[in-house]
Amino acid sequence: MLYVFLWLLCALAASYIYHGKRRSWIAGGLAGLIFGPIGILLALLTRPLEPPPLTKQCPACNAAAPYLAHVCPACGADIHYA
Ligand SMILES: [Zn+2]
Repeated sequence: MLYVFLWLLCALAASYIYHGKRRSWIAGGLAGLIFGPIGILLALLTRPLEPPPLTKQCPACNAAAPYLAHVCPACGADIHYA
């Protein structure tokens, strides 16, 4: 019974660590549930998820444009794939 409790504690800890790294807490919980203490180690070694960039640079005029923009607000160039 103690081992079941410790295994669930590993799942909770891995879930908490994954959530702190902006990753799915469900995936962390599953990793802890399946691998136990090794799941916590995996969660600790996982890199945090980077937030998406807010701007991109126009290749024509080098002005900063919103990342999802299709047309440069400064010069009107097509920056859909920039
Ligand atoms: Zn431009």
